[in-house]
Amino acid sequence: PANPPDDTARPLEHTLQQVFGLQTFRPHQKDIIEHVIGGGDAFVLMPTGGGKSLCYQLPALHRSGTGIVISPLISLMKDQVDALTANGVRAAMYNSNLDAATARSVLAQLRAGELDLLYVAPERVMRQNFVATLQQLEIALVAIDEAHCVSQWGHDFRPEYAALGALREAFPGVPFIALTATADPHTREDIVGVLGLEGARRFATSFDRPNIRYTVLEKNQPRRQLMRFLESRREESGIVYALSRKRVEEVAAFLAAEGFAAAAYHAGLPAAERSAVQERFLRDDRGIVVATVAFGMGIDKPNVRFVVHYDLPRHLEAYYQETGRAGRDGLPAEALLLFGTQDVAAARAQIEQGGSETQRRIESHKLSAMAGFAESLTCRRRVLLGYLGENLETDCGNCDVCLVPPERFDATDAARKVLSCVYRVRQNFGLRHVIDVLRGSDSERIHKFGHHRLSTWGIGREYSTAEWTSIVRQLIHRGYLVQDITRYSVLRLTPLARALLRGEETLELARPRVREAAGSAGRKP
Ligand code: ADP
Ligand code: ZN
Repeated sequence: PANPPDDTARPLEHTLQQVFGLQTFRPHQKDIIEHVIGGGDAFVLMPTGGGKSLCYQLPALHRSGTGIVISPLISLMKDQVDALTANGVRAAMYNSNLDAATARSVLAQLRAGELDLLYVAPERVMRQNFVATLQQLEIALVAIDEAHCVSQWGHDFRPEYAALGALREAFPGVPFIALTATADPHTREDIVGVLGLEGARRFATSFDRPNIRYTVLEKNQPRRQLMRFLESRREESGIVYALSRKRVEEVAAFLAAEGFAAAAYHAGLPAAERSAVQERFLRDDRGIVVATVAFGMGIDKPNVRFVVHYDLPRHLEAYYQETGRAGRDGLPAEALLLFGTQDVAAARAQIEQGGSETQRRIESHKLSAMAGFAESLTCRRRVLLGYLGENLETDCGNCDVCLVPPERFDATDAARKVLSCVYRVRQNFGLRHVIDVLRGSDSERIHKFGHHRLSTWGIGREYSTAEWTSIVRQLIHRGYLVQDITRYSVLRLTPLARALLRGEETLELARPRVREAAGSAGRKP
């Protein structure tokens, strides 16, 4: 039956079943929906696929007036509107893709109160007369989807979203609901502040995806490593992410040449080819798509069995999102990251090239967190969820670190060498430089600062640069050192370092797994 009336008096379950064809609510959905129907503001953190849409769609049907949904992606908007219309909901969209006649008719429907839900692109909402139009109408609620787009801290900042901050005040008495799937604690506070939702009730479901197994491999022979991984998964379906279009094509070609069913996907390909690749991926139970991050947004394929990162993602949020496309059906799934320190260096160099000082600092901090995850010798899930602001009680038992715990060694001596070297360079230099001093580098930079005359110069030749890097990172994770993100990530000692430096304490660390190729060790004097 089309056009359900305002279901104000009906039980929520009735609407859930009759309109959406769903049986029961998922955790938090009902609480959120009741809160918004009652007129309260809500801030919803829920992983992708968790069921956020229902949290504003259903309340819009139970309140009188039109629900306004602000959503950044026109393609997703269209999918949602189509699905709602098919269920008999009076939904429409208003964005720059509409021809003038359609846009006029949507506005007419809106003014006549004939819409339950109107999806609007952010740049449309903020046009002066549109807000004025809405203010004259009955508005059921305002939903801001993908709310992390308002934050510069978020991984997907969109300038046109920032203006949405003015909306809350423009609609007194109308409930606002902001929703996002990714928010580290910084981003979270930022969203709430920018949107003026300090008074909103917060709802957060766990971001843990226990069926995904996280594995990180040191990237040394990426093609062979990739093939070895894919060999036993020929009957499965998965995504291989690579950083550039060129790399995507190379990897896809080489996999195809090795007999894998692999297709390339990136924004530079013709639209017809892209949609053919995407449709085949959605339809088939096996096959690999090698893609840039352009692939996957809004793809709801339950049986993606693996996601491989051939190159380092720039942020942990992006990594979480991208790996989260695996195992939506709840069955075991794999996330493999090939991690090369050269990728970190390349990313760092790129960050240094552009953006404001603040932007560079944020990017650089995020990159360090990403590298920290990859280099972590404690449970990966703990590191990942910890970054998203969620603390796991125990190790997960389903990541490479948990499954093959790293060997431990007495690192007291090594740690003291590092800490005293940080002290000798006056807590004014970063990780690379400190390691160069330890390894007795003869570089120009070392001489420029006279660091070849320090007592700690060359006292650490027993470990390679890669091994020292692992040791220093662990000291950072354990809180003996901090990287000052406001000042080029220089290393500083913390109060914890003192006892170790004085020889009052011993320390065990995980033995570094990384090995440098023979011959690339630092120059000996
Ligand atoms: P999100 O926006 O959080 O990524 P969606 O709102 O698109 O997630 O929902 C993801 C999928 O979960 C959709 O297929 C939706 O129909 C389904 N879903 C949502 N809520 C429920 C529910 N209560 N029971 C069953 N399926 C649900
Ligand atoms: Zn674990």
